[in-house]
Amino acid sequence: MGLLEGKTALIFGLANNRSIAWGVTQAFAREGATLGISYAGEALKRRVEPLAEKVGCDFVAECDVSKDEDIEAVAKKAAERFGKVDILVHSIGFADRNELQGEYYNTSRKGFHLAMDISVYSFVGLARAFQPILNPGGALISMTYYGSVKVAPNYNVMGVAKAALEASTRYLANDFGPQGIRVNAISAGPIRTLASAGVSGFKSMHKAFVDMAPLHQPVGIEDVGNAAVFLASDMSARTTGEVLYVDSGYNIMGVPDVSKG
Ligand code: NAD
Repeated sequence: MGLLEGKTALIFGLANNRSIAWGVTQAFAREGATLGISYAGEALKRRVEPLAEKVGCDFVAECDVSKDEDIEAVAKKAAERFGKVDILVHSIGFADRNELQGEYYNTSRKGFHLAMDISVYSFVGLARAFQPILNPGGALISMTYYGSVKVAPNYNVMGVAKAALEASTRYLANDFGPQGIRVNAISAGPIRTLASAGVSGFKSMHKAFVDMAPLHQPVGIEDVGNAAVFLASDMSARTTGEVLYVDSGYNIMGVPDVSKG
């Protein structure tokens, strides 16, 4: 029996087959979850629908999380279709490309607001919209990156947004605890996706990451998917407000271990 048998999961942030959300979707399907998928806008529909089909998911809903009405509409649609929902995965991030290079002090007010709105507030907005239809024993999961706690050059405003996302994860964990719902984040190592392609210098950073991480292994979307299964399932029943690193151990290193180079 799959670890998510009998649970309904809504996954936000599927863009293509390289998306972390796709790793999560596949892992959840394997573990027997009933799935709903949401994507940002019309332009992505032709990529997302065939992926949904592959995992036998026929709930595919558009939701631009910068719009309150879209968030409310998707929650309503999910309520009509599923009644209750157990798992919500927020795999959404966005910053203007111009903000992901150079000095952080050059971040524009507009760019700051945009990154915070799409990458952080949307998690709060979705949590609120789904709160009335979440089952006890449920789980909310967000996707973060180490640039929230240490400086990752060029990551800039996204690092600040991820810090706010992790803080939001803790505040939401406290809010939802009495309802028996857990809220956790996964901090993934660098993975080549549409979103990460926008970060200047990502390729060389990716190589340095593999060299320095104790496991010397790149992280894949399937690794994040499997970690999400753990956080979504009853296997993590007493874990909430945490950031789970899926980064081949990179975050524990202070300096590179040149003796193993
Ligand atoms: P991705 O580009 O595949 O996913 C990002 C998603 O955000 C896309 O589906 C995009 O459509 C969606 N999105 C952007 N604006 C939106 C809006 N207004 N409304 C709804 N959706 C919107 O890239 P990814 O790397 O899979 O990113 C998923 C999450 O994982 C992000 O939060 C990202 O910051 C995080 N993350 C990525 C990495 C990495 O190296 N790729 C590492 C750690 C964390």
